Amino acid sequence: MFSQNTTNTWPKDVVARYLTVGTATVDLTYGSRYYATDNGIGETRNHTTSCCTGCGAIQEFSHWRVIQRFTFDDKVRDVEAADQAAREWAQEHAGMCRAMARPDGI
Ligand SMILES: [Zn+2]
Repeated sequence: MFSQNTTNTWPKDVVARYLTVGTATVDLTYGSRYYATDNGIGETRNHTTSCCTGCGAIQEFSHWRVIQRFTFDDKVRDVEAADQAAREWAQEHAGMCRAMARPDGI
């Protein structure tokens, strides 16, 4: 019923995948944007991204949460909260999107 691409072969960077009613997928990744960490050591991805392969809808969820807005140090990194928000968006979108992904993946 579904193509092998949507069910068996996931791109390497996809961390979660939702099947839409139009048989496309909504893929969660850790995005493509990097920023230096607050302590200046290394770099980290700061978004969980949900992207629909059918209609191209995309939504980013920041890993940073503002606790109080007094200084630049009042943010905490919460990847799980961003992942949860991305999953909820993906689930809702997958339940209503009827766009189909192109068979050739372009
Ligand atoms: Zn869609």
